[in-house]
Amino acid sequence: MSPPSTGAATFFMLSVSEARERILVAIQSVETQTVSLDHAAGRILASDITAGIDLPPFDNSSVDGFALQAADSVNVQTIRVIADIRAGTSSTIAIERGECARIMTGAPLPKGAEAVVMVEDTNFDGRIPDHAAPRMITINKQVHPGENVRQRGDDLHKGETVISKGTRLRAQEMGLLATLGAAEIILYRKPLLALLSSGDELLPVEADLTPGKIHESNSYALAALAESAGMELLRLGVAKDSETDIRSRLEKAVEAKADVIVSSAGVSVGAFDYVRKVIETDGELNFWKINMRPGKPLVFGKYRGIPFFGLPGNPVSAFIGFEVFVRPALEKLSGLTVRPRPYQNAILGQPIESDGRESYLRVVVVEENGRLVARLTGHQGSGNILSLVCANALLIVPSGVKSLPASSEVKIWPIA
Ligand code: AMP
Ligand code: MG
Repeated sequence: MSPPSTGAATFFMLSVSEARERILVAIQSVETQTVSLDHAAGRILASDITAGIDLPPFDNSSVDGFALQAADSVNVQTIRVIADIRAGTSSTIAIERGECARIMTGAPLPKGAEAVVMVEDTNFDGRIPDHAAPRMITINKQVHPGENVRQRGDDLHKGETVISKGTRLRAQEMGLLATLGAAEIILYRKPLLALLSSGDELLPVEADLTPGKIHESNSYALAALAESAGMELLRLGVAKDSETDIRSRLEKAVEAKADVIVSSAGVSVGAFDYVRKVIETDGELNFWKINMRPGKPLVFGKYRGIPFFGLPGNPVSAFIGFEVFVRPALEKLSGLTVRPRPYQNAILGQPIESDGRESYLRVVVVEENGRLVARLTGHQGSGNILSLVCANALLIVPSGVKSLPASSEVKIWPIA
């Protein structure tokens, strides 16, 4: 029987999807704020955007040329040029038969004109800068009504919803918002993620190694992941394997009103694994074991009301725990519409063994003869960060599968 998706702490092993569901149920989006468009790139929209104007806002020329009635473009005629319409101006003239107006790209089409003949299709040399409009022009090419004209509302109409709440604003959304004159928009606040490492063996990156010590690396990898998910960062540093030190650093996250805490290490069954204990005593433990590889011990709960992730200490496990569980949680926290992560299909370039747990293997995927082929990047130990450095994707082996022959079709998640 599957466990309930909310409620009391779960101490048995959850499947990856059950764990993800429990996490998403427990996370709420941050509040919203009004932001100037200048500071909106990459942020998450908190209300639908409805166009306040038609786009384009007026009929205009899509080329540099001559605006006329279509009938005057038939059989190479020479006609009078009665106006010169530059972009950014507007003209009240009306074009009659036998007349035209020189017009620049983006300038409003004058009344009476039906189409625009490109300057290249006339006897006028448009390449000379500042060349005044000619008095007469010979039209060398026939155009049909509407040709080289962008009609008002061709792209979108006033009142249309053009960007939905929960969208991350990419370059193209930024361009559209500016086109619509949206100087200020309502966004979700950028969440604050507090990041903690723990372990007596960890030395700062600039220190020389001494016996038994290693450089602390998870905070660097996890900070980069958190920033890629749009978080503000609060660095809580490296806690000793001591309940007091862990607790006092977590209190800094409470003081700073962090929206989420991500820590690594200290969540397994080692004698000095205190992180889980602190969450159990001072917070709420939701679960701490997931049936996956790597990264089985992964704590999720709350510390003084703040959602808390205790990732495993091994660098590869911490990275994968982030991608599988923390990233979707941060998406929801930041207001983004959470969708299942897109995967691709690839062919295995070698046989692989698994242990029946849902596994995330480090692979390099290359295109060979029109197919994506995935191969393991060296040994798959959960401490071997090089296996991730050489990888461009994670290969997902479903639970229950113990071996896959070469050429099997597999699912992969590209990693940036
Ligand atoms: P633990 O979860 O505390 O048992 O740690 C598991 C493994 O991950 C140990 O080999 C630790 O030394 C290593 N480890 C834990 N935290 C970090 C960190 N922040 N940077 C690099 N390695 C770490
Ligand atoms: Mg440890």
